[in-house]
Amino acid sequence: MTDENKDNTELINKAAHSILKSEIKHLHLISSAAIKLLQLTNDDNTRIEHLSLIIETEPVLAIKILKQVNSAAYALPNKITSIKRAVNILGFSTVRRLAINLLFYNKLIQQNSRQAFDLLFFWQHCLYVASLSRRIAVVLDHPDPDLIYTGGLLHDIGKLVLESHGRVTYSDFICSMDKSGHSTLEEERRFFGITHAEMGHVFCLEWQLPASIIAIVAQHHNQPADSYAKYKAEIAIVSFANYIAWIQGIGSANYDSHPKLQHAVLETIDIDQLNLEALLQQVDQDMKTTQEFYNIELPGLTTLRATLVKATINLSQIGAGRHFAASDKPDRKLSSCLTLPHHSLNPDEFIPRTLEAIQDEFSFDRSIMFAIDPKRRCLVATYGWPESTLTDKLQSFEIEISEISGLLLTCLREKEPVIINDKIERDNPIIKRLKTTEFLATPVLHHNRLMGVFYADNSRSKKPMGAQLLLEIMPIAYELGIAISNAKKYEQQKKHAQIDHLTQLFNKRMINTFLTEIFQNKSKLANIAIGFIDIDKFKQLNDTCGHQAGDNALKIVADILRSLTRPGDCIGRYGGEEFLFVLRNTDEKGAYGYAERIRSQIERRGKMMSKRFHGHQLTVSIGISMYNPHYNDYSDMLEAADQAMYRAKNEGRNRIVMGTDVIRQENSPNAVCLIPTVSD
Ligand code: GH3
Ligand code: MG
Ligand code: MG
Repeated sequence: MTDENKDNTELINKAAHSILKSEIKHLHLISSAAIKLLQLTNDDNTRIEHLSLIIETEPVLAIKILKQVNSAAYALPNKITSIKRAVNILGFSTVRRLAINLLFYNKLIQQNSRQAFDLLFFWQHCLYVASLSRRIAVVLDHPDPDLIYTGGLLHDIGKLVLESHGRVTYSDFICSMDKSGHSTLEEERRFFGITHAEMGHVFCLEWQLPASIIAIVAQHHNQPADSYAKYKAEIAIVSFANYIAWIQGIGSANYDSHPKLQHAVLETIDIDQLNLEALLQQVDQDMKTTQEFYNIELPGLTTLRATLVKATINLSQIGAGRHFAASDKPDRKLSSCLTLPHHSLNPDEFIPRTLEAIQDEFSFDRSIMFAIDPKRRCLVATYGWPESTLTDKLQSFEIEISEISGLLLTCLREKEPVIINDKIERDNPIIKRLKTTEFLATPVLHHNRLMGVFYADNSRSKKPMGAQLLLEIMPIAYELGIAISNAKKYEQQKKHAQIDHLTQLFNKRMINTFLTEIFQNKSKLANIAIGFIDIDKFKQLNDTCGHQAGDNALKIVADILRSLTRPGDCIGRYGGEEFLFVLRNTDEKGAYGYAERIRSQIERRGKMMSKRFHGHQLTVSIGISMYNPHYNDYSDMLEAADQAMYRAKNEGRNRIVMGTDVIRQENSPNAVCLIPTVSD
C-alpha cells in the first residue's frame, strides 16, 4: 500500500468511527454464520459438509431450506429431513445463495419500518443487483458467479451500517437531502463525513470478508483504485448491474438520481455480448423465486418500475407547469405501456413493443413514432404499429417543422398533447397524407426537451377520440421520452468506450472488432491492407520535451491520419505511440502511396514544430501487410505488418516497409519481396 493510500484509509477509518454509535466489531449486522458462509472454500469435499453445518446451526434457515426441498416443485416421494440431503438436491450454489440472503437480510424483512430509508425496498435493490450480476457473470464466463452474486448483494452494505448504527442514520440523511444537484456520494460525504461505499469498505475490512467482495463494495461507484485493479472485472459487473437496476426503477432508495455508468465498466466488459432483454427477464424470474422462498410480498417489479415512472412523470409535470400527476389519472392500472419502455436500452426493441402495448390497451388503428431530426429540422416517422403502417409509401415519411402550423405547432411549442380532426383543420397535411379524419399527437419529452412525437389514429374504425385519451397517453409518452433519452445516453457511453481519449481515434478494442468483422467475410478480404505506424524515438521526445509535448505529438499524428484517411477505412491508436490503419479496396501501390502521404506529412509538420520539440524530429516508421489467403485470421496479418514496421526501424526509421509475406516466403523461398525505400 502506498503512503497516500494508507493516509486515506486512516482518514476514512477515523470518519467511520466518529459517525458510528459503537465499534464496528461490536455491530451485530451480520451473524457469524454469514461470515463463515462467505469464507466457505470451494473445495468440493468439505464444502457441502460445512454448508450443512452452518445451516443446521441457524434454525430459521434450516426450516426454510427443508420447506423448499419438500415443496411441490421438487415432487420428491419421501419427506427430506436431512440438511445435507437437501443441499445435495437443491444444489450447493442455490442453497448458499439463499442462505446468504437470509442471514444478511433476515432482520430487514421483519422490521419493514416506516423510515425514510425503506429497508425492504433497499433489500430488493440488493437482491436485484446480485441476481443480475450473477447472470452477467455467467454470460461472461466468470469463474465464480456466486461470488459476484454475494458482491452484488453486499455492494451497498455501507448504507445499512449507517442506517442501523450511525449516530445520524441514513433515513436522517435522506430527509436532509435538498435538491442541490450534488451527487449522492458528495452529499453523503457532507452529511456523514464518509460515503456509503467507504463505510462499506471499512466494515468489510473489519469483518475480513473476501478481498474481491471488499473491492466491489469499496469501488462500485469509482474507477477501480490501483490496489483493487485485480478485481476490475468483478467491480465492473456489479457497477453495471447497479446502473441497470436504477434505470429499471429498482434503485436502493427512491431519493436520488441514478448512478453514472463508469467509463471503466464499459472498458472492462463487452456489453455487446450481453442480451440485456433476456437477462432482465431471467432476473425477474429469479426475483419471483426468491420471493416464493421467503414467502413474502416484495413490491412487484412492475410496481417499482411504475414508481420510477410516477416520480419522473411528477417531475416532468412540475417542469412543464402542469398539475395533473400520474396518480390522478384514471386508473388504467400501471399498465405495461408504462413500463415496457424500460425493459431494454435498444429503441428498436422497446419502441415497437410499447407501440404494440398501446394498441392492445387503447385499440387505436395505427400508431407512429416520430423522431426529431434537429439538423434537418423535421419530424421523421421511425416506427409504426401495426408494422405495415410504415409501408413503402410512408417509409420516408417526414414533416418539415417549418411547414407545421395550427394545433400541431401548439403541440410542439407548448409541449401539449392535441387531437386534430378534419372539422378543425380541414387542410391539415397529415390528415390528407395519412388518409384519416382525426389523429392524436403527443410530445415525447425528456426534461421538457422534445425527443419525438407520438401519433395515433382510428382511421379505419372512425371511433372518435375523446380528450380523456390525452390524459392517459401523456404518461406513456413521458416514459418513452425517458427511455429514449436513456438509450441515447447508453449509446453515447458505449461509443465512448470505443474511442481513445487522447487522440479521439478508435482504440485497440474497436480496431480488433473492425478486423474481426472483416475477417468474417472472406470475399471482402482480397484487397485489404493493414499498416502499423510507430513514432520514431518517441521516448526521447518525451524525455527532452516533457509528457505534455509527447501528448501533443500524438494528437498531431492522429489529426494527420484523420485528414488523410477515406471514410470506409479504419484508423486507430493501437497502443502508446503506435497507430494502425486498415484500408479496403487497395492494392500494394495504393497502400504504399497512402502510407507515404502520412509519412511525409508527419515529417513536414514535425519540421514546422521543430522549435517546440527542441530540435527533435517528428517522424514515423510504417510497416504494411497485404491480405493473403494463407492468413488464418487477422492476427497473422497484424504480425506481418508489425514485422515490417520493425524492419523499417532497423533500416533507419522514417520509412515504409511493405511486409514480406511470411507464409508465401516459406512456401516459395524465391518469392520477391517488395521493399521500396523512401528517398529523402
Ligand atoms: P522507436 O523509434 O524504436 O520506436 O523508439 P521509441 O522511443 O519511440 O519507442 P519506445 O517503445 O522505446 O518508447 C515509447 C515511448 O512512448 C515510451 C512512453 O513513454 C511513450 N508513450 C507511450 N504512450 C504515451 C502517451 O500516451 N503519452 C506520451 N506522452 N508518451 C507516451
Ligand atoms: Mg452504491
Ligand atoms: Mg516508437
